[in-house]
Parts: sequence; C-alpha cells; structure tokens
Amino acid sequence: MRTDLNRHLTSPLTAVRNLGILAHVDAGKTTVTERILYLTGTTHKRGEVHNGTTVTDFDPQERDRGITIFAAAVSCAWDGHRINLIDTPGHVDFSDEVERSLRVLDGAIAVFDAVAGVEPQSESVWRRADRHGVPRIAFVNKLDRAGADLDTAVESIRERLHPAPLVVQLPIGTEDGFSGVVDLLRMRSLVWADGSDTVEEGPVPEGLREEAHRRRRLLEEAVAELHPVALEEFCDRSTVSAATLTSALRDLTRTGEGVVVLCGSAYRNRGIEPLLEAVVAYLPSPLDVPAVRGTDSGAAQERLADSEAPFAGLVFKVNATATGRLTYVRVYSGTIDKGEAVLDVGARRTERISRILRVQADRYAELDRAVAGDIVALVGPKSARAGATLCAPAAPLLLEPPVVADPVVSVA
Ligand code: GDP
Repeated sequence: MRTDLNRHLTSPLTAVRNLGILAHVDAGKTTVTERILYLTGTTHKRGEVHNGTTVTDFDPQERDRGITIFAAAVSCAWDGHRINLIDTPGHVDFSDEVERSLRVLDGAIAVFDAVAGVEPQSESVWRRADRHGVPRIAFVNKLDRAGADLDTAVESIRERLHPAPLVVQLPIGTEDGFSGVVDLLRMRSLVWADGSDTVEEGPVPEGLREEAHRRRRLLEEAVAELHPVALEEFCDRSTVSAATLTSALRDLTRTGEGVVVLCGSAYRNRGIEPLLEAVVAYLPSPLDVPAVRGTDSGAAQERLADSEAPFAGLVFKVNATATGRLTYVRVYSGTIDKGEAVLDVGARRTERISRILRVQADRYAELDRAVAGDIVALVGPKSARAGATLCAPAAPLLLEPPVVADPVVSVA
C-alpha cells in the first residue's frame, strides 16, 4: 500500500516543470502566458491584454497599469506534464518579487521582442536568473511585427547575455507573412494557418530547404563546440543526430553554457506548442535541480526533493483573495497534508493548514496533500510572510533566503 502511494507521489515529479517567464515590460510575457494557458486547456477563452481580461493579472491595479505587479502561480497540463507557471514581474520596481520568484523556479522562458532584441530589463533579470542558477530557454516573440528580425535578436543575446545562442528554428515568412517555423532538429515545418489555432506539420518548404540545411549545420557546429558527445559524433560522422542534439541541448541549458532559441508570435498564437515541447525537453524537473540548502540551529543542511524527507517549503507570495489569505509555497522536501500543523521557523510560530489549493488560472483545485516539487497555495497560515520557511515542527530547517539583489538598474 505504502509503496503504491509512494510511487504515485514520486513518479510524476519527473513530469513537473516549475517555470517562470522573464521579460522586459511589453516583450509579451502576459500574452505568452495567456497562450500557454489557452493551449493547455486551462482557459477556454483567450484573454487579450489590451482589453484587460487576462487571467494572470488578478489585480485591478495590474490591469490599469498593463504590467504584472504581483506574481501568481498557475498550474497547467501539457503532454503528460504538469507545468507550474510562476509569473515573474518584468518591471524593475518589483525587484524583491522577482528575487522570490526566481528562488522557487527550476527553469524559465526568457521572452524577447524580435524588433527590440535584448532590452535593459531583460538583461537585468537575466543576470539575476544567472545568480539563482535558473536554466533558461529563449523565445523571440513578435516575429509578425514590422522590422522583426530573428538573427539580429539572436546576435543581441550573444553580445549582451553571453551564452551561446543555439537556434533550433528557422522562421517561415517575415513580418505580416510570418506563418510558421522549420524545426531544425526534426527538419519539419510547422505552419499555423491564418485565423486557426491548429498547427500543420509538413516537409520543409522547397524554397527554404537549402537555408534550413545551412542552419542545421550551424546548430550542429555550435553544439559540437560545447558538448563532448556531440563533438565526437560530429568528428566521426560529420553530422550530429537529432537525438544527440536533444540531449546535448538539455545539458547545455542546464549548465547555462548555451541557450536554446525559439521564435514565434504569441499574439497570433504561433510558436507556443514548440515552446512547450522545449520546456518539457530541456528544462529540469524538481528532481534534476540541486538539493535546497538551509540551516537547523546554525548547522548547514541540504534537502533533496524527496517525499520521504521531512516537510520544508518556502513561501514566495501571499495574496489576500475572496477565498482567504493564500500563502503560495514551493514544497522542497517531504509532504504536507490538509489539517497538518507546520512551523514558521523564522517567526517560531505553528500554523495549521486548512486547505491546499492548486491554482488553475481563475479556479482552485482542492488537494489533500502536496509533495516535494509542488507549487501550491495554502489556506490557514495567518502570519507567514513571503520569504518565510514552513517546515515539519519536528524537523526545523530555515531555508536560505533569496539572494540579495543588485541595486536596481535604471532603464535607459
Ligand atoms: P508584457 O508586458 O511583457 O506582459 O507584454 P504583453 O503580453 O502585455 O504585451 C505587450 C503588448 O505587445 C500588447 O499590446 C500585446 O498585444 C503585444 N504583443 C504581445 N505579443 C505580440 C506578438 O507576438 N506580436 C505583436 N505584434 N504584438 C504582440
């Protein structure tokens, strides 16, 4: 019985992605989030940023200002995976929130504007993500805009952010005529028909074949330069297989040496499916990230994402809602059951958990239990603040606080 329960609790961890979306204001973070929620069936109506119906912007103030002020965590399902989307403010004024969000992420999508490329805030949030060791993939958005250019945006990633950009797609069409991408790993085209949300897969268009082969070659060379297994294959066979490229891209994403670059137009709902595939393929699960560190009475301790270990979680957000005071927690180790008491270590206060909720955009799913790796909202704690550690009363552990931010960078 216990074994079955454990299997049930632990095996899906490999299929969890705790994901953030990082961007300069206006690059399209809210629109990308909306499209992901729409595509994963979390919302059934597409929200549009301009009319203030987006589901991640809960707060009226956010809608008024058109920027995401308060991080909201939303869970959605994709291809057998659970993606917990932690909204990360793009505006530099909210740097503490950015730090706390980055602290609980295992991976992120960095969204760039295909016209503007890397902008000051994208650079500052990128550096912060570096310090938190958050693996990232890049999404060059707004390819439908006049003046959009993937290559120029990619060069700005190389020059200003420094990891090797590893471009895995070739856009089909430009500006208004942008209709899809060539997937350079599978050498297949993905095309979204006008006014349609469905993607059609097919062969690489005749006129793009030569360019697609040239770019696949560039990708193989770039990966071989950084990854020994890809290099060996490249030397032996003068080519690198899609399977080797995929596992090398995963490794390079996790070490931060390279950044996988995808592109699309969130507004036109183009490029989101391959983006989610890349999230699942390249970004880590809670089991793939290093153990979390903390202290117990001054002595250093580490905790793995293990459901058998004592419970420890970090509060990264507290929201007053009609449902009550929601305490958003990243569970790092152990399990927590509805009705259990937990210790707020810093405040030396015990709090009882009356409900455990998984937030799904505008709905809450009630859970009896949350396990290591989960992102959930707790109802019950009355005083735990953002940044607090909650843990099993019998095994106190004070998790390391988020790293101290650099002074806020002024925006040119
Ligand atoms: P955020 O500030 O990063 O959350 O950006 P938003 O998602 O709010 O987008 C900023 C503006 O850019 C809005 O007016 C969007 O409608 C628009 N936008 C977002 N994605 C695209 C895109 O792919 N193409 C175009 N042309 N506009 C977009």
